[in-house]
Amino acid sequence: MKKDTLLLGSHVDMNKKNGFLVGAFKQAQNEKANTFMFFAGPPQSTMRTDINEVKIEEFAQLCQENNIDRDDLLVHAPYLINLANPVKPDTVSFSIEFLKKEITRVLAMGVSLIVLHPGASVGGDRNVALTTLAHSLDLVLDDFQGTKIRIALETMSGKGTEVCTNFDDFKTVFGLLKHKDKVGVCFDICHLSDSGYDVKNDFDGVLAEFDAKVGLDKLWATHLNDSKNERGAKKDRHENIGHGYVGFDAMVKIVHHEQMRGIPIVLETPYIGTFCPYRDEIEMLRTKIFKNLKPEEEITANTV
Ligand code: FE
Ligand code: FE
Ligand code: ZN
Repeated sequence: MKKDTLLLGSHVDMNKKNGFLVGAFKQAQNEKANTFMFFAGPPQSTMRTDINEVKIEEFAQLCQENNIDRDDLLVHAPYLINLANPVKPDTVSFSIEFLKKEITRVLAMGVSLIVLHPGASVGGDRNVALTTLAHSLDLVLDDFQGTKIRIALETMSGKGTEVCTNFDDFKTVFGLLKHKDKVGVCFDICHLSDSGYDVKNDFDGVLAEFDAKVGLDKLWATHLNDSKNERGAKKDRHENIGHGYVGFDAMVKIVHHEQMRGIPIVLETPYIGTFCPYRDEIEMLRTKIFKNLKPEEEITANTV
């Protein structure tokens, strides 16, 4: 059952330096977040800290004491995974096995939602890539029937040969899936804009198209990022809230949209030098009051 609350947070660090899951929790708490996302291990490597050392019990207790529902949290799957590769079966089988291991890890942390980049066609056929993706997801999920894991496929910007850059791709994948109930979608607002969707002026229209092609019940998470590039640029460069081409007003509208209630929304905006912007960005989105976090720079949104 979807909650009737605004769930807002950021991507936090979950590593040895930050104190693993306890550090991740405390970072989120400091940002006044009631959801957050983290990597379960380094995103570009298969190295993983022993699951017994990442402080799961303390983490579970902190979540409970502070009314954070671990089912509202997100883990971002590692970047090494490409379940869609239509030309290299070895890459696909590696990806399937690695994702299974990662899901086991995520479930041990008491988290149920994992966000995954759908993959890329890397010189092969795009339709074969979508078919491969659906088949690979089913092979992964065959092993997790009866568990609470849910995989949210992220909407991609269209750089390189990425798939799932439009809602028709998602419709195709969902049409092929056997384990449909365990797969949903994670909007990335920067990526949606970069791939051509008018999230700035017509978020309702975007939601309506998504509902018609995929179904609003499949929207399970959102990455809230502004974009350094114009709509349709297919670039994927995140910008701080209100400093990019989507702009502050549209961001506020998205965050406070009725349809977004109960859906975890997490920021993946860039650090400003060494400054972590999330606490301020979360506050300005909640209060709807813009605060210029980089006054020395020109705001892209004001130049268009
Ligand atoms: Fe992502
Ligand atoms: Fe994202
Ligand atoms: Zn991105």
